[in-house]
Amino acid sequence: MIADVLIRNAAELVTARGAKDSPKTKEGMQELGIIKNGALAIHGKEIVAVGETDEVLATIRRVRTVVDATDRTVLPGFVDCHTHLIFSGSREDEFIQKIEGRSYLEIMQRKGGIFRTVEKTREDLASPQALMDRAEAFLDKMLTFGTTTTEIKTGYGLSTESEFGLLRLIARLKESQPVDIVSTFLGAHAYPKEYENSKADYIQLVLGMLERVKTGGLAEYCDVFVETGAFSPSEARTILKRAKKHGLKLKLHAGEFNDIGGAELGVELGVTSIDHLDYISERGMELMAEKNTIGVLLPGVPFHLMINRYAPARKLIEAGVPIALATDFNPGSCPTLSMQMIIALACRQMKLTPAEAINAATINAAYALDRGDRIGSIEVGKRADIIILNIPRHQQLPYWFGINLVARVIKNGAIIY
Ligand SMILES: [Zn+2]
Repeated sequence: MIADVLIRNAAELVTARGAKDSPKTKEGMQELGIIKNGALAIHGKEIVAVGETDEVLATIRRVRTVVDATDRTVLPGFVDCHTHLIFSGSREDEFIQKIEGRSYLEIMQRKGGIFRTVEKTREDLASPQALMDRAEAFLDKMLTFGTTTTEIKTGYGLSTESEFGLLRLIARLKESQPVDIVSTFLGAHAYPKEYENSKADYIQLVLGMLERVKTGGLAEYCDVFVETGAFSPSEARTILKRAKKHGLKLKLHAGEFNDIGGAELGVELGVTSIDHLDYISERGMELMAEKNTIGVLLPGVPFHLMINRYAPARKLIEAGVPIALATDFNPGSCPTLSMQMIIALACRQMKLTPAEAINAATINAAYALDRGDRIGSIEVGKRADIIILNIPRHQQLPYWFGINLVARVIKNGAIIY
């Protein structure tokens, strides 16, 4: 066999394999498929051999680039399955208000929060190059922290013109830089100020946008923020049903601050994932487990908002809900691009084991984007998205926190960092 890249002598090669056609659940989340003194070979954009170093070497006739991973741990690239990556400005002043005790919903009700970001983003969309440059810089940073695929939502436009401006920027980003991007339409992120007293009209506007999203092929998913002060389950149902009719897959923000029945709605509509779940009923968990609906947990949010209420990850796992992790990168509730930080938080605040957190950030996160067959694990035939960490054992990944452990990133078979 001829290989373009050979990674050899890895102290631990964490394959994260073992999920056949569906995400990992229960005890399966503990299994990382670790190969000691591991190696893998890449040809083109694909993984062509995985095993112990001797085994893999025996199958290779010629190789162009050899990467020695002695004393290092090799992992699949992280999949960040929930972000709001394109936005203008920052909100550190609100962060200080939160330190002083004001809540996120309180700030939003005073027309701060999302509304400020919407206003500034709309302004900047008039000549979008600065937004584009900034998003590219964010993606670059993400890559250096080990994320090789990310989802990006709209939702800071909230008008037809600006939502489509954001969708077009996402489309441009897909072409302009190496991180793989999955596009989600979140026109129902909040009711814009101008529709405060005519909410039904805004829902009609969103339904109209969906028609155009479908025609333009600009998004793969439709998402709705189901929350007190945002969209009710019945409003969300109207929007998501229409999206489904147009062939979009579905996601839901639910249970961030209150449980108003988002999990039940998500399962009813067959969404791919329900995200946040800091508040969820026992019944909601049972339903999600039955339908294998992925729970995307975002521990960076309660951490940044200083709310001591994290998703009940242990209960979710026990109930059989497949869980994934993501940053929720956004200027209001989680300004981090680091999946390593999220894994560190998940272990400390939600009591995930390092193995569970790694599966949640790789293979299960790939399933949360319906890409579990292509990415998220190191297996023959999968895309060569690989990271090499400066640690000899995977348990050290959440242990060292707040520092970047990434030594190398290989994206689509190319060593790019
Ligand atoms: Zn979000």
